[in-house]
Amino acid sequence: MPDHPDFVIENRIRDREETLARTELEALQLQRLRATVVHVAAVPFYRDALGRGDITPESLHSLDDLRRLPFTTKEDLRRRPPLDFLAVPREQVARIHGSSGTTGRPTFVAYSAEDLKTWSGLCARFLVAGGLRSEHTVHIAFGYGLFTGGFGLHYGVERVGAAIVPAASGNTQRQIELIRDLKADVLVCTPSYALTIAEAARELGLDPRELPLRYAHFGAEPWSEAMRFQIEAEFDLLAFNNYGLSEVIGPGVSGECVRRDGMHIQEDHFIVECLDPQTLEPVPEGEPGELVFTAITKQAMPLLRYRTRDIASLWRDPCACGRTTVRMSRVTGRTDDMFIIRGVNVFPSQIEEALLRVAGSSPHYLIEVSRPGTLDEVAVKVEVHSEQISSDPDAAKLLRRHIGKEIHTVAGIRTAVELVAPHTLERSSGKAKRVIDMRRPC
Ligand code: ADP
Ligand code: ZN
Repeated sequence: MPDHPDFVIENRIRDREETLARTELEALQLQRLRATVVHVAAVPFYRDALGRGDITPESLHSLDDLRRLPFTTKEDLRRRPPLDFLAVPREQVARIHGSSGTTGRPTFVAYSAEDLKTWSGLCARFLVAGGLRSEHTVHIAFGYGLFTGGFGLHYGVERVGAAIVPAASGNTQRQIELIRDLKADVLVCTPSYALTIAEAARELGLDPRELPLRYAHFGAEPWSEAMRFQIEAEFDLLAFNNYGLSEVIGPGVSGECVRRDGMHIQEDHFIVECLDPQTLEPVPEGEPGELVFTAITKQAMPLLRYRTRDIASLWRDPCACGRTTVRMSRVTGRTDDMFIIRGVNVFPSQIEEALLRVAGSSPHYLIEVSRPGTLDEVAVKVEVHSEQISSDPDAAKLLRRHIGKEIHTVAGIRTAVELVAPHTLERSSGKAKRVIDMRRPC
């Protein structure tokens, strides 16, 4: 990762737990895991599963015994009434959030007052790790509502003591005015929405680099390293990645430090595994696999071995920032976003990476998968500048070919590339929709 010459951020660490020696951290994890096994017995799903496996706290001798615990899937949550996984009496519930429902019926998650405190502390940790200071003003353009992004980041910023502009999502022109007039130096939203803001600013005759933003914390959807460089150049800011999901706690599961070399997982609260999604065996360190999390401090709704369907890799070598926690790579995609084309597994992020390698194409794209006959076909719609399409058909043909070749190199599939005029594709104010799979029944 090249150092950004304009911004040097001092490395600050918020909590001692981020730097525990591995033996101390693992002892803490085991102790908390045992307590969690007792606590989740209040949930019928877990009581039955733990009973079947003869699992008691005393029978967990080391962290390896985690593998004896049952998995929890999104289907397990969906199949039951909302809040069926509640592990505390209803009167202890302080807040209910829901997942965004990106892949189907949303699921609900509950927090106790204590959980809310834990959560804001975890968000504060990654924000501090990524340079947030109390003198900053943070513009939050995440939706405030059932989605965990808005409130999660809001209370995290508050814990750091910075000022907040809770702009929420939508009305991009107004967002730009607020950022400019209230002098926000930090932006919080999805990476795709940051691009929408940059584009709208230019249309208003404003160079996005003139906005006062200097840092950004992006999450909630997959994005590529190429996209990071593009957004940083557009606004002249430093962008950090953070990851989380509602079932585990929301944002705050992991985030980048100033080194920006992987996201530190907050292991004193979550035990992570990286498994082959087919065999459910651990993959070797550094190899991509499905992330599985066990929440070991949550009160209201701690899930055991929650299968995220997010594909990433883990590595444990020490980070120069001093944190001792395991780091995760970018999420290359979700297993449910992945599409299989004639036997090749493809993630939208690969298409994005290819597009951003080609001068003249843009990060505004949509992938359409269909099966007109017996074979799968993929069409990639990409926005370009209108001059290129209208003024020179030969240049357009060349560009299409170049994009197709780059996609083939990165993703290993052949695609039909369609160049479309600017603004033809829908802009997102939250998570961008990248794939339409017409093979799936609606
Ligand atoms: P939903 O599953 O309905 O989208 P959430 O709103 O809880 O529910 O979103 C969590 C999901 O968002 C994660 O499982 C992951 O797929 C995605 N996500 C969150 N942060 C990131 C990130 N930094 N990079 C890639 N994907 C992310
Ligand atoms: Zn670090």
